Amino acid sequence: MTNNTKEMFGELLLDKKIVAALTAMGFEEPSPIQRETIPIVLEGNDLIGQAQTGTGKTAAFGIPIVQNITDHKHIQALIMTPTRELAIQVAEEVGKIGQTRRIKALPVYGGQPIDRQIKALRSGVQIVIGTPGRLLDHIRRATIKLDTIRFLVMDEADEMLDMGFVEDMEEIMKNLPADRQTLLFSATMPRPILSLTKKYMKAPKLVAIHKEIVTAPLVDQYYYETKDKVEGLCRLLDVDVSGKIIIFCRTKKGVDELVIALGTRGYLAEGLHGDLSQNQRDRVMKKFRAGRADVLIATDVAARGLDIENISHVINFDIPQDPESYVHRIGRTGRAGNKGVALTFITPREFRQLKLIEKAINIKIVRRQLPTEANVLERQREMIVSKLQSVLEQNNYSDYLSIVNTLSKDYGNEEIAAAALKLMQEGNKAMESPAAEAAPADFANTGAREGMVRMFINIGRTQKITVKDIIQSLAIEADIPGKDIGSINIYDKFTFVEVPEAVAEKVLAVMHRNTIKGYKVSVEPARARD
Ligand code: ADP
Ligand code: MG
Repeated sequence: MTNNTKEMFGELLLDKKIVAALTAMGFEEPSPIQRETIPIVLEGNDLIGQAQTGTGKTAAFGIPIVQNITDHKHIQALIMTPTRELAIQVAEEVGKIGQTRRIKALPVYGGQPIDRQIKALRSGVQIVIGTPGRLLDHIRRATIKLDTIRFLVMDEADEMLDMGFVEDMEEIMKNLPADRQTLLFSATMPRPILSLTKKYMKAPKLVAIHKEIVTAPLVDQYYYETKDKVEGLCRLLDVDVSGKIIIFCRTKKGVDELVIALGTRGYLAEGLHGDLSQNQRDRVMKKFRAGRADVLIATDVAARGLDIENISHVINFDIPQDPESYVHRIGRTGRAGNKGVALTFITPREFRQLKLIEKAINIKIVRRQLPTEANVLERQREMIVSKLQSVLEQNNYSDYLSIVNTLSKDYGNEEIAAAALKLMQEGNKAMESPAAEAAPADFANTGAREGMVRMFINIGRTQKITVKDIIQSLAIEADIPGKDIGSINIYDKFTFVEVPEAVAEKVLAVMHRNTIKGYKVSVEPARARD
């Protein structure tokens, strides 16, 4: 592999520790603005950066600043932001970048007791982030001293001007040491900003990232706004979406987490990211192409250069960083005259970013509602009806009519039909009395893999059971190594676990009526698939 984090961020001549921090953050490669700005800042230049929201500007200044901090005793960088929320966000991100070098970033904002801030400022902080007003407050109290400051950042400068901070900003800059570096980031460059740059910056280099964009016109584009993206995604997969599906996440960690989240909910998800060896990648792709995985989950980097035919849906589980990558992602569907669908999930906070993408590509991304739980049930019903209709149309079920005739002596025809449907949908579970928890209908269809037996255990999320609990108790009680255990699906009140056929008897003998996490459990083979 050539495209792992180390080499790609490493090309920017970064400290190994910082590269390690970026890897831990799940960054695979620098974004375009980062690639261009980091070397300029590391060379000691002032810089004006212009790029849209979500393009990674925080790390574009955070990385070179962290790299330039040598002394742990003094505050060496001030970052001005228009709002307190942004100050907190920037402090978090810069703090993560600096973590491995033990560099601390502190947000200061109104509404927090000033004493606590003063104490925090004295406790060994190298980077301070705040609104210009709050920063000035501390400067006037001499709780922030300017003589050790070597970097000043104006983040979202246009917004700061809109909010009337210009005088505070100038007041700070007038008092800073002359040999500092000044970095200014802004989505737009109105005249007042240019005059600030002339007055307070030294021969600044300009980096502007905005490119021409075209979009794939055959792709239908929708978005869903939700706070629970995993739940939303599952409902889509249950009700609306089927076919060859690629799901994009922003980071490697995101890919791994989503693979697990979908896996425990019973979907066959395969993940693809830069950490996999070529062999592993090939295996994943083979599975996906052959239809042995429901969904492929990938980062932008991992999906680059992948050639997969007939993708029906691209799902942006995380909204892309910029319009180019949006276009890139959705361009994987709707090829060769086929109609494709692109679905984007946003959290309420990301609405603005979606609007920016919409504007840049000049196409309306239509809002859609997620299916409700009722829709999910209704969809299952529709499936039954359509299966039934096709059997009726085949018209060769006469063998079964004699059964109906026999039963109709004691039951009505409608009752017989309804009971038969229940049996078809729920399998043998349909025969149990309602006291036992009825498994949701579709579980009967999730068969175990070849050579494996699927076991039903009557505890689940309600008992706070985790995958680890199941693996541990099978290892300790039944002496079955974790690597032999197949998929584990944990639901609210029960769990399915696949074990090799060869040890199935043993598992039943040892685990049934045994305890897991202090709960006495019942273990039995899951119902067969239809
Ligand atoms: P901007 O300031 O341009 O609006 P941010 O700095 O807030 O953008 O970054 C947006 C998101 O992208 C953040 O969640 C950040 O962690 C993430 N991000 C930044 N750079 C990278 C990268 N190189 N790879 C992956 N994610 C990144
Ligand atoms: Mg920003």
